[in-house]
Amino acid sequence: MPERLETWTVLKVLTWTKGYLAEKGVGNARLEAEWLLVHALGLDRVGLYVNYDKPLTGPELAMIRGLVARRARREPLQHILGTQEFMGMEFEVSPSVLIPRHDTEVLVDEAVKRAVPKGRILDIGVGSGCIAAVLARLLPESEVFGVEKSPEAMELAQRNLERFTVKVTLFEGSLFEPFLGQTFEMIVSNPPYIPTGDLETLQPEVRDFEPRGALDGGPDGLEFYRAIIPAAPEFLAPGGWVIFEVGIGQSSEVLAIFGTTGRFGELFTAKDQGMIERVVGGRLL
Ligand code: GLN
Repeated sequence: MPERLETWTVLKVLTWTKGYLAEKGVGNARLEAEWLLVHALGLDRVGLYVNYDKPLTGPELAMIRGLVARRARREPLQHILGTQEFMGMEFEVSPSVLIPRHDTEVLVDEAVKRAVPKGRILDIGVGSGCIAAVLARLLPESEVFGVEKSPEAMELAQRNLERFTVKVTLFEGSLFEPFLGQTFEMIVSNPPYIPTGDLETLQPEVRDFEPRGALDGGPDGLEFYRAIIPAAPEFLAPGGWVIFEVGIGQSSEVLAIFGTTGRFGELFTAKDQGMIERVVGGRLL
């Protein structure tokens, strides 16, 4: 915002912010401008609309300027606001975790369809805790466990789970390491699946601000599927399911990995709202 001696009303700041963010390559600039103002002014969106003509104070303008500058540098809106909604629950997020994506709802839906009463469910790579927390809420009779290798992510996931008062038992570690000798009725995971070489082509919000450890799936993006699928039978109860989120174009390769073990049947895929095959799963034979 140019610092001229004129009255900056809510509407004027909103219009200016929208134009500035759009110029910096931010999509949905109008909506994002609204969220930044809502956050800075402590209003809700209706509050913003009814205050269009209200002049902003110097400190309010300074606060908004700071937030807009961050977003213009392509820092994710969710890092600025500190939260992201996932399936009706609001999760705290930080640069230590993947921001929950709406695409991941398909994984949760497919898991809920196949859950058995009082089953044990393991989420590999909990990140913010979004999958584990929603499963624990939707399936209150299940026992949900999670594993996460990043201590910073663990801390944040723990906070999210405590805030929602859902019961999920978290372990710090790699893949199945904390669960030797245990079995689960279901294993779910949204592992890192971006091929290493593609990381640089991602939008700046993801490339520069989200944790590499949550994105990088190795040279072809399939490293974690290759690590988890062959190891999973040892950790599955009879008839147990393994259900994954996958990246664009990866479903047939992940199905093939299930196939080569010879241990899984009832293989399935499910599409997201963009008609992309987003989930792949199979059941222990
Ligand atoms: N399970 C978390 C999510 O789906 C984190 C996934 C990840 O970091 N790859 O958001």
